Amino acid sequence: MELIFEKSVPGRRAVRLPMSDVPRAGDLPDSLSRTEAPGLPEVSELEVVRHFTELSRRNFSVDTTFYPLGSCTMKYNPKALEEAVRPFARSHPLLPFLPSGERFVQGSLGLIHELTRLLAEITGMDEFSCQPLAGAHGEMAGMMMIAAYHRSRDDRRRYVVVPDSSHGTNPATAAMVGYEVVTVPTAPYGDMDLDAFRKAMNPEVAAVMMTCPNTLGLFNPHVAEICDIAHRNGALVYCDGANLNAVLGKVRPGDIGFDAIHVNLHKTFATPHGGGGPGSGPVGVKKHLAAFLPSPRVERRADGSYVIGEGGEESIGRLANFFGNFGILARAYAYITMLGREGLIEVSERAVLNANYVMARLKEWYDLPFAGPCMHECVFSASRQMKQEIHAIDIAKFLIDRGFHPPTVYFPLVVREALMIEPTETESRATLDSFIDAMIEAAKLAGTDPDSLRRAPRTTPVTRLDETRAAREIRVCHQGG
Ligand SMILES: *Cc1c(COP(=O)(O)O)cnc(C)c1O
Repeated sequence: MELIFEKSVPGRRAVRLPMSDVPRAGDLPDSLSRTEAPGLPEVSELEVVRHFTELSRRNFSVDTTFYPLGSCTMKYNPKALEEAVRPFARSHPLLPFLPSGERFVQGSLGLIHELTRLLAEITGMDEFSCQPLAGAHGEMAGMMMIAAYHRSRDDRRRYVVVPDSSHGTNPATAAMVGYEVVTVPTAPYGDMDLDAFRKAMNPEVAAVMMTCPNTLGLFNPHVAEICDIAHRNGALVYCDGANLNAVLGKVRPGDIGFDAIHVNLHKTFATPHGGGGPGSGPVGVKKHLAAFLPSPRVERRADGSYVIGEGGEESIGRLANFFGNFGILARAYAYITMLGREGLIEVSERAVLNANYVMARLKEWYDLPFAGPCMHECVFSASRQMKQEIHAIDIAKFLIDRGFHPPTVYFPLVVREALMIEPTETESRATLDSFIDAMIEAAKLAGTDPDSLRRAPRTTPVTRLDETRAAREIRVCHQGG
């Protein structure tokens, strides 16, 4: 593809703007004025359109390709949701904060309040705040509340316990909130080692953070007991709810004994994500933590109207502008109400069925470190292929040439050469089969023509990159003259 800079012809323009007829407010100081025109490409409107359309076609997205990126729940985002939330786009976020402004946005405030009620029902929690802008942000809200809870009881605690399969955001959050992180190993059956956990618990532990089901796609049968042991030591238990897609309508973390949870709306509740956002990670808590929730919150008066409640002294305060990423909240609300109770149950059942189908068809070709059945995702290891000097990364790159987004690789860290596949419920059996066929082709090539895997991808504008340098020394600007 020719770069847009290379198409530049001096004097060519896409649009011609009229001269400004707005009086100038004052002259810029000379030091801030340009002396030369900026070096922008000079191209026609049609060339601009083709350039950006062409770039958009270079993207992997759920709308173009199967995207089994484990732990990220890249499910289809129904287009009906876009239609449903369109009217809300006209509501200005400052309006409810103006004097008597609340009465103009009762619909938006009601939606936020209703969404907190729905999330509380789905997760078994008592209260929710929709402010956090991502799962990791929700984790931070949760850990800040837990810290505030212990402080309010004059209870000084130093540690947060996490399993070694946890997502990196869990220990990172605990450390950011000021705790020392204690890591518990995974037992051979794939759950947190119960004996090691018991040993790690003491009255100085503030909280246990667990993903449920865990990042190996397994539901820990001892999870209620773990909550119990934690509580007996005065610790609270935080649920990383990123894997909620596996258990909708089946189990409620609040019923098991978790004290707090975040929900990644952009994962489980089908709102667009990837490329860094926007996301939304509402945080939910049981009654004993409710006073610490971020403020402000939407409250419902006895007459059915909605108002902004500023929250009490114990609140951890404001974590985001306004009420968080409202557009995402609106889509998640539309998704939940569109599917209803039965629909959500079906989501999880199909997500789990699809993952088990992939697992069953591939386990003959790839090592399965923790034998199934799995929940909504399955984690293979490319350790068998490693004997042929093929790594998970080679298989991932090969899949790009076959038109698939690669699965998550090298996570969770407890699996060597991990390939973490999350097909989600929205994929057809035909799509799963063609992906599985490509995975089998890769496994065969590892034996017959390993070089062809090492050279992949070959269909992309740039081929194999140095992954570390590409991330650390990212160059997104035109480098030419
Ligand atoms: C995605 C994910 C997170 C972090 O959520 P973000 O919304 O990306 O900040 C935390 N834990 C697990 C298990 C995840 O999959």
